[in-house]
Amino acid sequence: MLFDDLDPTVTIASVLVPVAVPGAYTYKVPPGKTVVPGTIVKVPLGPREVIGAVWDIEPDAAINPDKLKSITHVYDETPPLDADLRRFVDWVANWTLGAPGMVVRMVLRSEEALEPEAPVPGVRKVEGAAPDRMTPARQRVLHTLEDGFSWTKSGLAHAAGVSASVIDGLIKQSVLEVVLMPASPPLPKPQLDYGKKPLTPAQEAAAGALAQSFDKGATVTLIDGVTGSGKTEVYFEAIAEALRRDKQALILLPEIALTEQFLRRFEQRFGVYPAEWHSEITPKKRARVWRGVASGDVRVVIGARSSLFLPFQNLGLIIVDEEHDGAFKQDDRVSYSARDMAVVRGHISKFPVVLASATPSIESRVNAELGRYGLIELPERASGAELPELRAIDMRLDGPEHGRWLAPGLVHAIKDAFAAGDQSLLFLNRRGYAPLTLCRTCGHRFQCPQCTAWLVEHRFQKRLVCHHCGHVEPVPSTCPSCQSKDTLVACGPGVERVAEEVADLFPQARTLVLSSDIAGGPERLKREMKIVEEGGADIVIGTQLVAKGHNFPKLKLVGVVDADLGLANGDPRAAEKTFQLLAQVTGRAGRVTGGGKGYLQSYSTDHPVIKALLSSDKNAFYQAEIDARRAAGLPPFGRLAAVIISGPDRGFAEGFARALVRAAPEDRAVTLLGPAEAALAMVRGRYRFRLLAMAPRQFDLQSYLRAWLANGPKPSKGLRVQVDIDPQQF
Ligand code: ADP
Ligand code: ZN
Ligand code: ZN
Repeated sequence: MLFDDLDPTVTIASVLVPVAVPGAYTYKVPPGKTVVPGTIVKVPLGPREVIGAVWDIEPDAAINPDKLKSITHVYDETPPLDADLRRFVDWVANWTLGAPGMVVRMVLRSEEALEPEAPVPGVRKVEGAAPDRMTPARQRVLHTLEDGFSWTKSGLAHAAGVSASVIDGLIKQSVLEVVLMPASPPLPKPQLDYGKKPLTPAQEAAAGALAQSFDKGATVTLIDGVTGSGKTEVYFEAIAEALRRDKQALILLPEIALTEQFLRRFEQRFGVYPAEWHSEITPKKRARVWRGVASGDVRVVIGARSSLFLPFQNLGLIIVDEEHDGAFKQDDRVSYSARDMAVVRGHISKFPVVLASATPSIESRVNAELGRYGLIELPERASGAELPELRAIDMRLDGPEHGRWLAPGLVHAIKDAFAAGDQSLLFLNRRGYAPLTLCRTCGHRFQCPQCTAWLVEHRFQKRLVCHHCGHVEPVPSTCPSCQSKDTLVACGPGVERVAEEVADLFPQARTLVLSSDIAGGPERLKREMKIVEEGGADIVIGTQLVAKGHNFPKLKLVGVVDADLGLANGDPRAAEKTFQLLAQVTGRAGRVTGGGKGYLQSYSTDHPVIKALLSSDKNAFYQAEIDARRAAGLPPFGRLAAVIISGPDRGFAEGFARALVRAAPEDRAVTLLGPAEAALAMVRGRYRFRLLAMAPRQFDLQSYLRAWLANGPKPSKGLRVQVDIDPQQF
């Protein structure tokens, strides 16, 4: 490289690159360029070039500079990642045992954002010019332009309600001129008092407490409020407070792709739409949000868990809504809980974090009880509407006839609701037509060739689908095992099958199936959610998708088709998860107007979860769960990590897992369990074994795991070792 010869004092820098290596790589800094920790750069990595970030790690000066590659581009137009964000990246990597490069990769999610946006043609009014003849349409155009901004032609035509020819006519007369303008004009600012609702006294007190927390540095507050208690309105006030203090705010939601309704609610409160951030947005929009967040132009982001890694210029508040939701846990390459990492982010930058739920996680309840988190309880609905009246239907005594899934008592209730013009929701957390398909003659069952899972029949789409890997095959007309014709039978219900029964029972009703795999994707789902919201459906049949966040004002009756579904598996979190899901979904009934009813179809009506749902006292249930966790030393009373070993060869993967256990450092504080087959023993053709490490709460489990994995046997032959701190399923 030429400049080495000219400049003997070659400067070098450490760069985190988006690959799974433990540290940073050292590069030469091009002459005339300066980089600081956080500067975003492009560097060669093997045969390709990647985007990375200069990091606060001492570069390796021992490497011969002739061997070093040079940074190929410095993005000096983009602000460097600030110290708090860098500390956060390091913290997440350290906590999850993930590679820092893979964490920084989540920050650098938009390459387009680093390139300046090319200007686009627009029009502007020429000072002092006037048209030869004024028409109402021309008047509207000129009126729209009084704001002094440049507009795109189509944007102006739309805003003024005129055709493009009107604008062309004004350009011809030199009343308007064509200019180059920035592709994304400055964003309108949220208006703090726009659409503010008068709050109930309970909400007022809650909002006041949150406003005060801004002066207390890093705090976490749990809002534990029943469905419809007005938690959203309360945390909107916290957002207003953050904005008043010139801070940016972030709202994390579990199912962001479907939260059209939420965006509209925000708009009603603040007069502008917030920026969205999740996997479904277009690269162009993604780039704009990323840039706007970095420049401080974007004030509020509503996003999925990955928005925690946006380069906020001045973040001052994070809200985690539905904080109990499992969707906040990412089980990808970096396995992290967005709820827990939000708390860390607030701690680093010393701002308040608010967790909200009608059914908080055991972890957050315990933290609130121990005084680590502030607690705000909202036991009543904001509208004054009473909570739904819940009832169990004992399927052993009052179940439906053979081949039917809805008990007479529930059918009767739907009939009444339908007659009264009310909406009903039937909830079943099972996509497709039936969970299992088998041959009546020989008993053959359809299993996924890649996973230890049954194929699920999707009758609308006429195919068998694996819900774990996406494997699809047509439904055959003859049994592949005994060749009998037309002998396949569906066992058990899925939402499609319940929909079939509803269509049969209520042919006059407008029914709708809401399930994440309905053809048409997120756009269609959004439309259908809106139909339900506006009362355009009488009976809705839905999976867990409907349990989250959505407000269906016409909904009066919720029927849970199989309340035992989540309780059957051996996961110690099963009771908590089922309680949360069923409380959420039944809580949708009568949310605004009251008079809601919920029915739980169950074969185990005396199960503590069913009893807790029926009694209005959820505290007893929480207390029992908390006691059980404490007795077993499980989180949050103890530390837990899973190590998953997976590979294409079963015997080899299991052998490696055993060797790893033998190599574990001796430590009396740590209990190792396994290897055992993972809950899903095979996924996508990879066999999976799991080890569990348990330790007391004060124990530094990460250091233990790091030493163990560094000194233990090294995976080879396609084996993969993944660490999952605080696994969701254990
Ligand atoms: P949560 O988030 O606790 O489930 P929401 O904030 O969604 O509750 O409020 C439930 C319903 O009550 C919504 O329709 C909301 O518009 C309404 N609501 C909330 N607070 C008030 C209030 N202070 N006055 C009138 N309506 C309210
Ligand atoms: Zn057969
Ligand atoms: Zn599969």
